[in-house]
Amino acid sequence: MESKEFYHHLPKVELHAHINGSISEETINKLLKRKGREEEISKVKFGKEQTEPLADSFKRLKLMQTLSDCAEDIYIITCDVIKEFAEDNVKYLELRSTPREITATGLSRDLYVEAVLRAIKDTAHLDIIVHFLLSIDRRLGVDVARTTMELAERYRDVSNGVVIGLDFSGDPKVGDARDYLPVFIEAHNRALKLSLHLAEVAAPEETKDILKELGPRIGRIGHGTCLQPECGGNQALVDLVLQHNIPLELCLTSNVKGQTVPNYDQHQFQFWYNRSHPCIIGTDDKGMFDTSLSEEYAIAARTFELDRESVWRLSLSSIDAIFADDDVKQMLRNKWHELKPSLNIT
Ligand SMILES: [Zn+2]
Repeated sequence: MESKEFYHHLPKVELHAHINGSISEETINKLLKRKGREEEISKVKFGKEQTEPLADSFKRLKLMQTLSDCAEDIYIITCDVIKEFAEDNVKYLELRSTPREITATGLSRDLYVEAVLRAIKDTAHLDIIVHFLLSIDRRLGVDVARTTMELAERYRDVSNGVVIGLDFSGDPKVGDARDYLPVFIEAHNRALKLSLHLAEVAAPEETKDILKELGPRIGRIGHGTCLQPECGGNQALVDLVLQHNIPLELCLTSNVKGQTVPNYDQHQFQFWYNRSHPCIIGTDDKGMFDTSLSEEYAIAARTFELDRESVWRLSLSSIDAIFADDDVKQMLRNKWHELKPSLNIT
């Protein structure tokens, strides 16, 4: 089997996908048309051969934000993102997004969440299970965080568990994660799962306090770029993550293009993978960074010299870290085993 075909057919789990960063060029064009802004279509063709990747990425993200300002946009975007992940043979997907309020268009946080849930319901015929994490943006303060936590609890109860927990994200240089500790603890007490962007930039004191206070209540860590001593962290942070066995969501292209990691070779994947620590490959923002989960697996395999059996096992082991009950996990593991012969791994 050709390499590209193998990664495409490999059944996969995506646990780190921000809805608004995942919008494809096709969906951007669809939304521009819908909004009568066709003249901007030619301006969003960035392609793979970017000379200024970061500038292009942010240009695209900015545009994406202006294209998702009402409930119908959110619905269209979420439907397309789910379909694209399903086409990439992602069998289990956790989406995350910050419920936004936009007075001018009548968008409320409730309508935002409902639009996402409607999209998940209307794509239920696809061979993909989708759960949703509400994002707490660290730029917006603790009061909004508390509201988001309450929103997550309320919608978890009416969505039959599709809303499964909280994500903590936003500009890592703004605010202090420790201010949000009471919200995280309360969320955990209410049985909401937690995935926290942590140590995206070097912040050893903040990171240490969060890891110490929350321990295994942290369901997963997003990125964890600066945990190791050589990356601005220290051994105590590494030990805490290992001790509590907190899985890491690792997004290679996002980190390289976002310039928090100098190149693929130096990505923290190697460090954690060598220690047999749970590592889950993710895309972060597949639209913004022009990637797919298949491509991310291919890059990891190429960079860290993983054979196909190891790649398959890496994908299978990601199931352990999903925010779903044991029945779903077992069903997915069975599916992986059923599909394995068709991948011709030798
Ligand atoms: Zn992220």
